[in-house]
Amino acid sequence: MDSRKSIEDQFSKLHPSLPVSTRIGIVGGGPSGLSAAYALAKLGYSNVTVLEKYQTVGGMCESAEIEGNIYDLGGQVLAANSAPVIFHWAKKLGKYKDIKVADDYVSVISLTLELQDKAKDSGRIGVHAVSEIASDLTPEFLEARGFKSVPKSVACGYTASGYGFVQDMPYAYIHEFTRTSMAGKIRRFKGGYMNFWKKLSEMLPIEVRCNTEVLAVRRNSAGASVDVKNSNGEVEVIEFDEIIISGSFPFKNGKTYRAPPSSSAEPETGVMDMNELEKKLFSKVQTIDYYTTVLKIKGLEHIPVGFYYFEEFMDDPATIGHPVAMQRFYNNTDVFLFWSYGNSVDIKGPTVTELAINTAKNMGGEIEEVVLQRRFKYFPHISSQDMKEGFYEKVESELQGMRNTYYVGGLMAFELTERNASYAVALVCKHFANDSPSPTFPYVKRLFPLQSDWWGGNLKRLDEFPGVKFPDIASLDGYLKHWGTHEVIQNKTLYTWINEEGVVVSQRTYRELHANASCIAHNLLLNQKPLFKPGDRVLLVYIPGLDFVDTFFGCLRAKLLPVPVLPPDPLQRGGQALLED
Ligand SMILES: Cc1cc2nc3c(=O)[nH]c(=O)nc-3n(C[C@H](O)[C@H](O)[C@H](O)COP(=O)(O)OP(=O)(O)OC[C@H]3O[C@@H](n4cnc5c(N)ncnc54)[C@H](O)[C@@H]3O)c2cc1C
Repeated sequence: MDSRKSIEDQFSKLHPSLPVSTRIGIVGGGPSGLSAAYALAKLGYSNVTVLEKYQTVGGMCESAEIEGNIYDLGGQVLAANSAPVIFHWAKKLGKYKDIKVADDYVSVISLTLELQDKAKDSGRIGVHAVSEIASDLTPEFLEARGFKSVPKSVACGYTASGYGFVQDMPYAYIHEFTRTSMAGKIRRFKGGYMNFWKKLSEMLPIEVRCNTEVLAVRRNSAGASVDVKNSNGEVEVIEFDEIIISGSFPFKNGKTYRAPPSSSAEPETGVMDMNELEKKLFSKVQTIDYYTTVLKIKGLEHIPVGFYYFEEFMDDPATIGHPVAMQRFYNNTDVFLFWSYGNSVDIKGPTVTELAINTAKNMGGEIEEVVLQRRFKYFPHISSQDMKEGFYEKVESELQGMRNTYYVGGLMAFELTERNASYAVALVCKHFANDSPSPTFPYVKRLFPLQSDWWGGNLKRLDEFPGVKFPDIASLDGYLKHWGTHEVIQNKTLYTWINEEGVVVSQRTYRELHANASCIAHNLLLNQKPLFKPGDRVLLVYIPGLDFVDTFFGCLRAKLLPVPVLPPDPLQRGGQALLED
């Protein structure tokens, strides 16, 4: 997907490449799964189901209410100028505020822009776009480009955000981090990031099944059978033609970053019937054990609201378990969040908590309570060597789409919400759409506004206006005549038409609709050839909008039977050709 064009612009030129009734299952209602669902719905696919294990969507963008305040335990911030996909949705869905978090990554700006230009020219999506040009380990890669060492702000920002130590990572990942985190103000969603994803899922014309855990995925030549445990605890089998798998689902029991060498781990063959290629590729993937620990601490009231690194635990992997970062969200509480790495074997939750408590005590704090802890299976990634050996080329050219299966999430996209969202949208555009001038299959582009609080609670019944009584009239047209000439009501808005961006494009008051209906009825009965007579059926082939509503009421007034049909593609205005025939 071309990031230089707006999302709306890109979708307006695409058609679905499969029948829109294709049954598409999405495993996981996190940012990647919901972004894929958004793109499929935009293309007109009408049989899309998201299966989410927990009671709410949002995935690692988990928010929790603690003593009346909302805290983001996982994903929380976005850089204003580097997140076009999510801010496209946020314009309508979320209120956000700017916060000060980290240093800008000024020292690597020109390198980042240079790599970004090359990535755009490659026509590839996700990490694949830079995996050939930036597969060297980070210190070597930067040294070869004149840097004496990895700039401190980059190394600290990267490691504190849970992506491992820079000396372990191919530069491609550091690039994905800096290009998304360096531009513009840092923003956080009011009400929590989870709420943003909930609102997005509620706006999508797709089925989202929460409390539905996928137990097994079996593929065959026709599609995929998925065993799920539904919200009643029963196991059912759902059949899909295509399946999209999100997040760390295939690597849940796989290798953990910096685990002791003796520990064994396998990709998730228990829940997925992986073939040899999938097993081979996914056996190279590691995830990071990343913990959020929430503590109530007395004695640290002097620390201002903000995000802090612990520099002493940022360079040496032997310090894993100690917190790498701490955050104070609100001034009026003594709740602090700590972020730490574990290793799944000998450094787990209790050790991580103990080390966070020690750090707080060393700062002069007194622990009142351990409020909660989360362990995230975070940032699936591969080594520099595997990247050099063409891992991403194989994933994108041999794996994606094979056996009716597609993968979205941090491995392909890098573990940041904007990267995941834009990758999922790009993957859907690549594999489920084409840009041929006319559609391969008949379909209707669905218009769904992203506007959760559109009505704003301002809806009023007409008889709630002073001095207005609701009459008993036998026909819809009778009501339009009544309200269209009513002294109090006639100038009130009856219909508002909003476009896909949630922008108002046209409106009708009761009086206007009444007048338009009369005018159209007059034309239909008296001016047209051949003349209609009451009771005739009239085909209304209109692109959706208030012109259609005018004509519908005009027909009622003329006592004609309106038969609305949509043009094959409302954006192509094909209906006009049909009428002329
Ligand atoms: C501590 C932390 C801080 C972060 N900070 C930021 C940040 O500031 N900015 C930013 O942009 N990103 C941040 N991230 C990263 C961001 O949260 C992730 O990139 C994003 O959530 C990944 O989305 P996803 O959909 O690929 O995976 P996930 O969010 O993991 O979603 C996968 C979904 O699949 C579901 N699932 C798993 N197994 C099953 C099953 N068997 N059946 C059904 N459903 C299943 C899960 O419940 C989950 O909802 C942070 C993450 C963490 C953990």
